[in-house]
Amino acid sequence: MTTDAAEGAAGAVIAGQRVELLDRARVYACGITPYDVTHLGHAATFVWIDTLGRVLRLLGVQPEVCRNVTDVDDVLDVAAGRAGAAYDEFAAIQQFGFDRDMAAIGVRSPEHEPRAHRYVTHVIRLAAGLLEAGAAYPRGGGVYFRGAGVAERSGLNREAALALSAEFGGRPGDPAKDDPLDVAVWQVAEPGHPAWDSPWGPGRPGWHAECVAMAMSVFGPAVDVHAGGAELRFPHHAYHAAMAESFTGVHPYARAWFHTGVVTIDGAKMAKSAGNLVLLGDLLKEHPAGAVRLMILDRPWARGWDYRPELLGPAAARLESLYRAAARQGGDDPAAVAEVRRLLATDLNVPAALDLATEAGGAAARTLASVLGLT
Ligand SMILES: [Zn+2]
Repeated sequence: MTTDAAEGAAGAVIAGQRVELLDRARVYACGITPYDVTHLGHAATFVWIDTLGRVLRLLGVQPEVCRNVTDVDDVLDVAAGRAGAAYDEFAAIQQFGFDRDMAAIGVRSPEHEPRAHRYVTHVIRLAAGLLEAGAAYPRGGGVYFRGAGVAERSGLNREAALALSAEFGGRPGDPAKDDPLDVAVWQVAEPGHPAWDSPWGPGRPGWHAECVAMAMSVFGPAVDVHAGGAELRFPHHAYHAAMAESFTGVHPYARAWFHTGVVTIDGAKMAKSAGNLVLLGDLLKEHPAGAVRLMILDRPWARGWDYRPELLGPAAARLESLYRAAARQGGDDPAAVAEVRRLLATDLNVPAALDLATEAGGAAARTLASVLGLT
């Protein structure tokens, strides 16, 4: 057996780009807004991030995953109001359900789990720093980050950026802004939402700023990997990076982005309003967690996919083949184990690793089953 050190530098290819790592990796994952039950889209994102961590561990790198909880959020406030509960109590109850669902599908607890409501003073400091850097301006009790260049850096035209901004609560129509693509770092207090004192008046943190404050507080100015569902690419992640870089002057904020593919139902986005939510809890009542996990993982991680109940049968069959291969006597070929490792280190190529491990059997299959969280 060779040791990790003897195999040379540790590193992984993520989104086509090699990220060299010494002994630890800072992975920031945008977590949930705890106002609703866990659906398959959430599960897919967090199973993939969990698997990224497991692959890093296989490579001899200790992942430090920080998965935040966005418990200060406009949509959550509305849901809590409807339930007649305080926003933080409501969020805490939802969080228990999410943790239960994550445990049921084998997602390990993150090393850090900051909650937004504890980082309000950090956001105030962030806002002050962005004002000092000239990247933000105060207006009517709020603080706004200048965002006109963010869309361009993301490769979006203005029209597409404005549409996404409106969809994700960016309030492009807010008359307080110099530019519709500016975003609130500090949002002026409004009825129905929690409020804290600040140098600019009572208000609450803006969504992107919360994540910046949490990521920076846990990891400092930069991370090795920033992870989250692909739908967060713009505006959330684009503004996160822009704010962090404007505040610290450290570029790039993230060495690699891990944007997991969106899960659709009949080609449509999963949404409560569309009535097409596939809940993880419901799936796990009828199918083993391993089959659900493998249905999620046996595909390219960045590509969106359409869920159909018929996908679970083949996933269960593939899982059984892997288990049978793992139980096979002999065939513990070190080259096959090394190849599984190489395939996983190369943009988490699970389908190819699965083919190889099932064929080779023995240690290669056992290694893969363990790294994919299927044991
Ligand atoms: Zn985030």
